[in-house]
Amino acid sequence: MRTSALTLAVMALPIVALAQGKQDFSKVQVKATKVAGQVYVIEDVTPEFSGGNIGVSVGADGIALIDDKFAPLANKIEAALKTISDKPVRFVINTHYHGDHTDGNIVFGQKSTIIAHENTRKRMLAGAGKDQPPAPPAALPVITFEDKLSVHINGEEVRAIHFPSGHTDTDVVIFFTKSNVVHMGDDFFNGIFPFIDVDGGGSVKGLIANLQKLLEQIPADAKIIPGHGAVATAKELRAFLTMLKETSAIVEAGIKAKKTLDQLKKEKVLAKYDAWAKGFFKADDFIELLYKDLKR
Ligand SMILES: [Zn+2]
Repeated sequence: MRTSALTLAVMALPIVALAQGKQDFSKVQVKATKVAGQVYVIEDVTPEFSGGNIGVSVGADGIALIDDKFAPLANKIEAALKTISDKPVRFVINTHYHGDHTDGNIVFGQKSTIIAHENTRKRMLAGAGKDQPPAPPAALPVITFEDKLSVHINGEEVRAIHFPSGHTDTDVVIFFTKSNVVHMGDDFFNGIFPFIDVDGGGSVKGLIANLQKLLEQIPADAKIIPGHGAVATAKELRAFLTMLKETSAIVEAGIKAKKTLDQLKKEKVLAKYDAWAKGFFKADDFIELLYKDLKR
């Protein structure tokens, strides 16, 4: 997630509060839960927004993190890691550039190696409006790649693969090849309408294409860690893809019929998908996001 002009107007605003130095993380509690094989996830115990899901590889070689939430949560993340390993964090792979997945780099980058797609580094360096100021040098990835990169750790190949223009143009999906776990970053919001960062190079059509490719590659029995929401399987990922295909087709048909954004909202064209509105976006917000994306 990242707030933009659009989301500023419509979201519950935890990230905005953070950008203004007002986010209170004191109530947030997290814990480490086993997913499969060598892989854990840092889960929320409390309902407060804590950022994107962290994937964790644990074993004799040390710890590798996938994303690192917000910097003020670093101590709580370290405490959760202590419950499953006494080894140090050696690597962090960022799934994309948004602050709720990379803000902790400023802490973890002091003692581990930060890895990300080259566009993540570029966009962190440039900043993205007032919601995400340019990252300080100490928070930037030190190893970047274009298409794919593997970290060999804890008895398996942890493969990071870039997928173009989905949630952003910086997204990588992480395959824990032996543990049979996939961390999708924000190309997957489980059970909720997603944010698609058009200003950050994302698009709903690109996201749909990525998900179709991914569903061909992900084993049916794999565990999938989404960027936001509960740990899932290919079944929930398929439901997310179906929702995106159907909702974007509805909004696109409205645009072709020369309907305005207000008309589509008044007609409640996404009423059928109300179950997906329990996260960051209500149906009207998601109509607006799709409309602006598809009208370009
Ligand atoms: Zn995001």
